[in-house]
Amino acid sequence: MNNENPAPEDAPIDEVAPAEAVPTADATPESPASTATEPPAGQASESEDDGPSFADLISDERLLKAVRDVGYEKPSPIQAATIPALLEGRDVVGLAQTGTGKTAAFALPLLQRLDPKQKTPQALILEPTRELALQVCEALEKYSARLPGIHVLPVYGGQGYGVQLSALRRGVHVVVGTPGRIMDHLERGTLDLTGLRMLVLDEADEMLNMGFAEDVETILADTPAEKQAALFSATMPRQIRRLAESYLTDPVEVNVKGKTATAPNVRHRYLIVSYPQKVDALTRILEVENFEGMIVFVRTKTETETLAEKLRARGFSAAAINGDVNQAQRERTIGQLKSAKLDILVATDVAARGLDVDRISHVVNYDIPTDTESYVHRIGRTGRAGRSGEAISFVTPRERHLLRSIEKATRQTLEQMPLPTVEDVNATRLNRFDDAITAALADDRLGFFRDVVEHYVNEFNVPELDVAGALATVLQGDAPMLLEPDPEPRSRDRFKDSDRARGESGREPRNRRTGGPMATYRIAVGRRHKVQPRQIVGALANEGGLAREDFGHIDIRGDFSLVELPASLPQQVWDALRSTRISGKLIELRPDKGGRFDSDRGGRFDKGGRFDGPKGYGKKDRKFKKKF
Ligand code: ADP
Ligand code: MG
Repeated sequence: MNNENPAPEDAPIDEVAPAEAVPTADATPESPASTATEPPAGQASESEDDGPSFADLISDERLLKAVRDVGYEKPSPIQAATIPALLEGRDVVGLAQTGTGKTAAFALPLLQRLDPKQKTPQALILEPTRELALQVCEALEKYSARLPGIHVLPVYGGQGYGVQLSALRRGVHVVVGTPGRIMDHLERGTLDLTGLRMLVLDEADEMLNMGFAEDVETILADTPAEKQAALFSATMPRQIRRLAESYLTDPVEVNVKGKTATAPNVRHRYLIVSYPQKVDALTRILEVENFEGMIVFVRTKTETETLAEKLRARGFSAAAINGDVNQAQRERTIGQLKSAKLDILVATDVAARGLDVDRISHVVNYDIPTDTESYVHRIGRTGRAGRSGEAISFVTPRERHLLRSIEKATRQTLEQMPLPTVEDVNATRLNRFDDAITAALADDRLGFFRDVVEHYVNEFNVPELDVAGALATVLQGDAPMLLEPDPEPRSRDRFKDSDRARGESGREPRNRRTGGPMATYRIAVGRRHKVQPRQIVGALANEGGLAREDFGHIDIRGDFSLVELPASLPQQVWDALRSTRISGKLIELRPDKGGRFDSDRGGRFDKGGRFDGPKGYGKKDRKFKKKF
């Protein structure tokens, strides 16, 4: 099936109605079957007459005609649900798997609501990548083909400003852009959003993956309050739910369920650990994973009690449930988990059956189940209500064979995860420490304590920074703030690993695409900014116009990251990347002079006088000075 007019012999003559030959839409209430494209996934294909037709949803004949031109026969479920709500002017959250037609779900009502006479942008669509921005623009062009004088402009990094500026000056109705470049235009004052009436956050989960969460918030905060907003996504991680809650007004939520039995929004990982390592491994995971609620599954009733006890001893809020716990107690415990008075539930299969708590972001199989059925049931406790979930299974070397059968039964691949390193744990601890300070700065009692500190400073003539350090010492008590470095063998292993990633036998790395030489560059975002390799690749590829093959090894350090890229980057790439941000932070790309094996453990001053490394408070000091 395709979009072209069918040859007459393909279908009976009276069914062939080439679009151009038909003067009005009324003449062909049904689009000819032979010009329809395949419906997107998730679309019911059994019956012709269930669900609304496009004509039931859209009143603008020109739009209807355009939809028929592209060959859509009937609305997909997400379209059937969101088009009426958006036309009513409601805010919408649309959740549906990739390929279910989310673009038309917002594009059609958006186009119907445009005012062709307004010269400043009325609709802004945010997309995570340049490719998606272009793709959505193309779709909008097609759907608006019969609406004269409607202008749609793609705005993305890597393209010159000139084109974008002159188009904006001439007047556009819809802007489709990536967050970075939109932010730039807003900062330069070249994008006027005062007349904005509609905003769409498309592929919101991808946006997050690319590290654009903060940029998106900045943009959202910069748009008029009186506007319609819609958010579309394939999954609903907690961060996106929070975004929706703070920036959408009483949204209509549409959740089109996928067909797969195991939720597609759950990530499955496993960790190879020996039995005695398990408690320590779990503690590290609890430190570095960003979890809300967690169920830890163990095999025996006694183990639920002993493990919960060990976790409490390490300062986590954990409780046990098992078949011996009476009903009333069980309900009390689950109530506490629901209301966030408790975060970790250690359970046996029987005790946790059917448990339905939205806040469970993680399921940990402390003991991997021996039957795949249990695996599916256990994992079903997370990823509920369209949210995303995480499944982590501990596998002892002798249990490896169980992985295959689980993968076969769930038709999911389990991704191996490394044991979080001491550096990972320490970086997370420092992050939390920062967060606690940031939160305290907004506390009502700040004024009072400032006076107390000021008095001390004057009385004893001690610098503020020393006082702050002393207070942190009091707060920390006897427990060490940071873990001791791992014993030597492990860190040597890690270097060996990165050597291997860099090419066998120490040969200089080569570009996978051109075979040209590679060099190491430094960017000013690292583990402390919670950056991940895919965000780095995403941002640099997207904004700098680099290909995926241009990337070599990526090494995420404490306060910065090292990225291998072609040794000679063209000037336009430098220019394009000058204003690139990851998680809202300028990346400050530059060649790495320090060499790739510099230890970042102790930290050191670089030429600019900045202190790098995990204890690198250099930049933040300055910020704090301003505030105090
Ligand atoms: P998503 O954003 O949900 O991943 P898209 O909006 O990119 O999905 O649509 C996926 C494909 O389905 C596109 O090729 C689009 O043209 C097509 N499509 C969308 N709606 C319909 C429809 N109602 N009937 C047939 N094809 C459709
Ligand atoms: Mg899409």
